[in-house]
Amino acid sequence: MIEVKELHKSFGTNDVLNGITERIEQGEKIAIIGPSGSGKSTFLRCLNLLERPTSGEIWVDGENITDPKCNIDKVRQKMGMVFQHFNLFPHLTILDNITLAPIQLKLMSKEEAQNKAYELLERIGLRDKADTYPAMLSGGQKQRIAIIRALAMNPEVMLFDEPTSALDPEMVGEVLDLIKELADEGMTMVIVTHEMGFAKEVATRVMFVDEGVIKEQNTPNEFFESPQNPRLKEFLSKVL
Ligand code: ADP
Ligand code: MG
Repeated sequence: MIEVKELHKSFGTNDVLNGITERIEQGEKIAIIGPSGSGKSTFLRCLNLLERPTSGEIWVDGENITDPKCNIDKVRQKMGMVFQHFNLFPHLTILDNITLAPIQLKLMSKEEAQNKAYELLERIGLRDKADTYPAMLSGGQKQRIAIIRALAMNPEVMLFDEPTSALDPEMVGEVLDLIKELADEGMTMVIVTHEMGFAKEVATRVMFVDEGVIKEQNTPNEFFESPQNPRLKEFLSKVL
């Protein structure tokens, strides 16, 4: 579904991604772990061109999205993105937050988009919050809204960038539970996380990104039970 070839990204003289070549198949759940500043967010943001690669290619469903002729809006519709800090629009109601993109991009009529939004709100038990504003919600509620806002676009793949890192500890579980449900339903996902237990339980493959390259990757059991790379061993010894 996603193919990355020799991906490089620099900000000025800061070489952040140093040659990532990788394939992600439909249905895979990839967990990405690694030290702060190692390029995890930049990698995720390159996948839907929130950052333009300095060089290399990214192919999604057989289309080279790094080709300047590619319609990136169309590609982004296939890729739901969820950020650490929710990024809900504070001046819009929850309902409008969820329906804005599908309506503006003319993917659905207003009525269709609203019906879909209510259905998704129902699913997470927040139907009664439709007409309130993000500021009225807890962090866990906001992040679950951000997730269903992405789902409202019927994406083929979900990209999560540390979706629980900004939450109070008691709210982490409700967000991870929702992500786990999506995983169980077969959603393809790439998730940058510090939640090792979650990575172990949900991921089909875990990657260790360090200094802008994938230094090691494996099935969760192998990855956590018998890490090879010294930097990974050191990292795991600090976080586990
Ligand atoms: P991680 O998510 O692993 O913590 P990031 O991908 O956010 O790492 O950042 C990797 C490096 O890229 C850091 O040195 C960061 O300062 C730099 N960086 C990220 N985004 C930008 C940007 N938009 N402009 C300049 N430098 C950036
Ligand atoms: Mg990051």
